[in-house]
Amino acid sequence: MIDLRSDTVTRPTPAMRRAMAEAEVGDDVFGEDPTVRALEEETAALLGKEAALYVTSGHMANQLGLYVSVRSGDEVWAHEHHHLVGDEQGATAVLARALPRMYSEGTAPSDALLEEWISGRGDVHRAEPALLWLENTFTGRVVPLSEQRRVTAFAHRHGLRAHLDGARLWNAAAALEASPAKVAEGFDSVSVCFSKGLGAPVGSALAGDADTVARARRARKLLGAGMRQAGIIAAGALHALRHHRERIAVDHARAALLAERIARVPGLGARAQTNMVLVDTPSGRAAAYREAFARHGVRVLEIGPRTLRAVVHLEITDGDVETAATAVAKAAAEL
Ligand SMILES: *Cc1c(COP(=O)(O)O)cnc(C)c1O
Repeated sequence: MIDLRSDTVTRPTPAMRRAMAEAEVGDDVFGEDPTVRALEEETAALLGKEAALYVTSGHMANQLGLYVSVRSGDEVWAHEHHHLVGDEQGATAVLARALPRMYSEGTAPSDALLEEWISGRGDVHRAEPALLWLENTFTGRVVPLSEQRRVTAFAHRHGLRAHLDGARLWNAAAALEASPAKVAEGFDSVSVCFSKGLGAPVGSALAGDADTVARARRARKLLGAGMRQAGIIAAGALHALRHHRERIAVDHARAALLAERIARVPGLGARAQTNMVLVDTPSGRAAAYREAFARHGVRVLEIGPRTLRAVVHLEITDGDVETAATAVAKAAAEL
C-alpha cells in the first residue's frame, strides 16, 4: 500500500530514532530540558523570531497563537477553509472564545474586503477585529510573499495582530526559494509543524517575540500541556529540522511528476505546487475514485466532493511515484 493521505504518516528514520534514544533530557516545566531548549532556540532563529515554544500539535500551536492575540469576543479574520476554522473542532469558540469572520475567495483577503471590514470598526453592533490569520502553504498552494506583506502591513496599520499558520511553512519556503525567516516576516506569531513535511514523530512550535511566547507558555500550562522530559520527542523534531529541510525540494519534484502523470488520465485533473497533489475528479465522484485507488494500493484523502489530495513525503520513493501513477490510471479506467 502506498499511503499518500498525509505527510503525517511517516515513521522516524533509524538516525532519528538514535537521536531520540540518546537525547539529553530534563524537566521542561522547570525549563531544564536541554534538547527542548535547543529545538526552541533553533526554531526561533530559523524563523527570525525572538523565541519559540515546543507544543504537542499544530492545532495547539494555532490555538495558543489565537489565545494570546485576542480577547473573548474579538474577531479573527480568516479563510473559511483555514485549518483554524474547519479542522480544530470548536476550539476557537471554546478556548480563546474568538469570532471568526471569514472570506471564501483566494488565498488572502483582497484590499477591498479588508477596507470594507475595517470600516465598520467602532460600530456598537460589531465585534472588535483583533487578528488577521493567514496560512502558507494553504491546502498545498503557496501564498506569494507580496500577498503576505500586503495583509500584514494592513493589519499593523490598523493595530491588528497577524498570525501565520505555517504547518507546512518549510514547504512554502522551499517552493518560494526563500528562507523560513522571510516567510515568517511580518507576523506576530507563527506556528510550524515538525511532524508534516519534515517527518518528525511529534510536535509543532509557536514562534514570536519573547512576550508572545512567554504568554503562550503560560497558556500551554493552563491547558495541562506542560511536558516533562519532552527532549525524547523534541530530539526527533530537532533531527528533522537539521537534516530533512534540505530534502523537501525532492518531495516537491516527485509531487510535480505525480501530478503530471495523473493529469494525463482521462477524467482526472491534477496540480501540485508543493508536496500536495490536488486531484480533480468528475463532479461528485471523489469518494468513488478514492475507493478505486485504494483497491489498487494507493491511499489518498477526500477534501471535497470532487477533490482528492495525495501528499508526497519522505517515505515515498521515485519508484512509489511510478507505481502510484500506474495504479491511479488503472483504477480510473475501471470507473
Ligand atoms: C495539519 C495542520 C494543522 C494542525 O496540525 P496537527 O499537528 O495535526 O494538529 C494546522 N494547520 C494546518 C494548515 C495544517 O495542515
